[in-house]
Amino acid sequence: MYVELNSKGFTYDVHSLVKAFYPGEDVIVNDPGEGEEVSIRVEVFPEEAGDSVRTSGHVRVWTCIGGAEEELTGDYEDCDRPAVKSHLKRCLYGLLSKVTRKDLPWGTMTGIRPTKVPMKLIREGADDEAISAHMRSVYLCSDEKIKLAKDIAHNEAAIMDGLSGDGFSLYIGIPFCPTRCLYCSFTSYPIGLWKDRTGDYLKALGSELDLLSGIFAGRRADSIYIGGGTPTTLSDKELYELIKGLGERFDLSALRELTVEAGRPDSITEEKLAALAVAGVSRISINPQTMNAKTLDLIGRRHSVDDVYRAFEMARTAGFTNINTDLILGLPGEDEGDVRHTFDCIKDLAPDSLTVHCMALKRAAGMHEYLTEHKEIRSVVTAGMLDAAAECATDLGMVPYYLYRQKNIAGNFENVGYARRDCFGVYNIVMMEEVSDIGAAGAGTISKRVFPDGRIERCDTVKDVDLYMKRIGEMKERKKKLFE
Ligand code: SF4
Repeated sequence: MYVELNSKGFTYDVHSLVKAFYPGEDVIVNDPGEGEEVSIRVEVFPEEAGDSVRTSGHVRVWTCIGGAEEELTGDYEDCDRPAVKSHLKRCLYGLLSKVTRKDLPWGTMTGIRPTKVPMKLIREGADDEAISAHMRSVYLCSDEKIKLAKDIAHNEAAIMDGLSGDGFSLYIGIPFCPTRCLYCSFTSYPIGLWKDRTGDYLKALGSELDLLSGIFAGRRADSIYIGGGTPTTLSDKELYELIKGLGERFDLSALRELTVEAGRPDSITEEKLAALAVAGVSRISINPQTMNAKTLDLIGRRHSVDDVYRAFEMARTAGFTNINTDLILGLPGEDEGDVRHTFDCIKDLAPDSLTVHCMALKRAAGMHEYLTEHKEIRSVVTAGMLDAAAECATDLGMVPYYLYRQKNIAGNFENVGYARRDCFGVYNIVMMEEVSDIGAAGAGTISKRVFPDGRIERCDTVKDVDLYMKRIGEMKERKKKLFE
């Protein structure tokens, strides 16, 4: 679908809004293939204005999708650039909503963090009604999503207010998994191929942690997240040594949470759980993604539904009282009945928090290729599936506490973290709200520095494990430069 836009500064906004209405289409803005016909035309007058310049003008949007031509225009007066953008998006939304006979739950909001808007208004002292009115009139959000965003912003604000002033968080990446899941777009290598070299990897990782311990000397850690990959593909001894080493390098006296992703039930053993418990891990995540056996097979998880029950039982026996569970809506071939079955099983498992993702199709993932080859199998997310998630969370005594959206997310919906009030995932909030530094170690990880003026800078490490180990000196130099 080719979109013509006269003001290049709004390319991202126009592209993401058109894509939200037409998720299955390849949307191209201002770069047509040969013989490509214009489907949508978007014009802003005057064309380009600086961020702080106030202008008056008008917007015109046009389409011929569906056979008949449709056009909408609108004037704006004395607006700065963000206000012009808002105006443009509402105009385009009006046109596309008319043509598709669809409303989007998040209205014109296409960014990753919809809670940013209510959070900013809360910090400015706005009351609930003013926040709702703003989200409704400026972004055209549905009442249901406004409530969700406000609830989450209040819960996030409470957590952030309780963090130590000059704190930081750590992220540690263990890039190995039992097998690769069909939908995976993370840094992940089969542990079978790497089992003799995990020691070398941990050595390189340890030298990055040594560097970080110098960088964060004199400051207290708020949260630590060990993810990947699947950290529990390491041996019990390796896990214990890794976590014990953190206490030797960093000040953990104010630590609110130490999470380890025990994501794949087929990587969990009693010995590993005992090692995590003894080392002081406070939160683990056991992630079935679905409780339907046919889907587990299809997505290459190589574990059974019974393995999930067993892993939970072992984790409770080992003493874990804060267990998260990740689920995905929109897995191939699953309908609302399948999803409701999963949530019935989740109620039996009774985790302490629940993270519900909507499938986001990434080109790099095998799933994209699979769905292209198997056109009869669909990946669908419906509002009913999200309702089932929210109902399950309510039944388990949880409230929504964090939310984010991804590019190409199915149904233009959102990923939501639910938890019991005493089990909010601190790292998730810190990472999402970008309120403090994150020191990351391991292949394919990203460190983040938050400056006092709110500016953020990042540096990453290479994803390839071999390259990561070979170039560890360079990875450390990058980090040193970021934080110096
Ligand atoms: S468990 Fe997670 S990181 Fe590992 S292959 Fe599956 S999706 Fe990727």
